[in-house]
Amino acid sequence: MTDSINSALFPTYARAKISFERGQGVRLFSAEGEEYLDFMSGVGVNALGHGDAHIAEALHKQVDQLWHVSNVFSIPQAEKLAQRLSEATFADSVFFTNSGAEAIECALKTARHYFFDLGQPERVEVIAFTGAFHGRTLGTIAAGGNPAYIEGFGPSLSGFHHLPPGDIEAVARLVSDKTAAILIEPVQGEGGVGVIEEGFLQDLRKLCDTHGLLLILDEVQTGYGRTGKFFAHEWAGIEPDLMAIAKGIGAGFPLGACLATKKVAKSMVAGTHGSTYGGNPLACAVGNAVLDRVLAPGFIEHVEEMGHVLSWHMHQLMQKYPDLVQDVRGKGLMVGMKITPPVRDVVKRLQDHKLLAVAAGDNVLRLLPPLIITRDHIEEAFEKIDATLAEVAAEDEK
Ligand SMILES: *Cc1c(COP(=O)(O)O)cnc(C)c1O
Repeated sequence: MTDSINSALFPTYARAKISFERGQGVRLFSAEGEEYLDFMSGVGVNALGHGDAHIAEALHKQVDQLWHVSNVFSIPQAEKLAQRLSEATFADSVFFTNSGAEAIECALKTARHYFFDLGQPERVEVIAFTGAFHGRTLGTIAAGGNPAYIEGFGPSLSGFHHLPPGDIEAVARLVSDKTAAILIEPVQGEGGVGVIEEGFLQDLRKLCDTHGLLLILDEVQTGYGRTGKFFAHEWAGIEPDLMAIAKGIGAGFPLGACLATKKVAKSMVAGTHGSTYGGNPLACAVGNAVLDRVLAPGFIEHVEEMGHVLSWHMHQLMQKYPDLVQDVRGKGLMVGMKITPPVRDVVKRLQDHKLLAVAAGDNVLRLLPPLIITRDHIEEAFEKIDATLAEVAAEDEK
């Protein structure tokens, strides 16, 4: 095994010294044959767990037929997936990407171009929120506004304002004749699993309607059933004008999408945007198979039910370890516990107990299990978390 100093890869990640060889369901197996319970799903990606037969079959079939053709041809797999997504959501139109950041980039470009087309090219500014995460491209680090991700990378893309979520009056005061859009994650994932109040999302929608602004939702992490609805904004009973999605949509195959209403998408005429790989036959064959599974009767209801079980267990732990667990947050199977010991240490200790979890901002221990988990998996995971916290508590007493 190579450490980051001897690796030929960029040292951009603090990599754990574990590598996996295969996966089945909610389990991952290391090269040494050790078995791990996966409660991070490649950070919210492997929605169907590992080795799902239906998506594997769709991929194999497509591998044998055709991998890639240019988007200058019509791609039936992409047409079909876009059609199905528009039937299942607010959207009329879809642009496929390879990642979440590209989906956000597409949403931002589309918002600006929409106003350009309306003869208001000065409308380029976007109001976004502190604690947000929208990706790692130059545009999306500016949109996210996290100084730690912006510093050292030269002039930042201008036009973004950030303020803490929750205060609609403060947002209203920022709106000017330069504002194009408001951008928000319904649950801030990387920022610490901060659930945005439904009332605030409704107020943002109203504010956008009043001023003719576009509401852009980043559902890259919250989408595709993760919160117990197909998309998290459904909890608030609102609809965006633009929405970026990714993580769950390919369930492990690189795929993202920007969804839009017809009104907004129609300004993106031939030549305004593109992506060589975006929406190629392989990705969309998988995407269609993932959608079959996620939209199957009962699938999303199962997520909601398991979310309640998960939440109950987290509350139990908070009662048992009041000095270690300060807060419990989240929706569906996107949850977190704000803890007092450094979260990265706890994530490491959980790995020693063969449980994979993920750190988030605000010292939150984040759990993003595959959406197919059962009660037994949850109980097993919480035995491991309990044992780990007991260890930490015992050491604190020394
Ligand atoms: C992961 C994530 C992104 C970025 O997605 P990439 O595929 O890494 O580019 C953007 N927004 C949110 C909310 C995310 O969780």
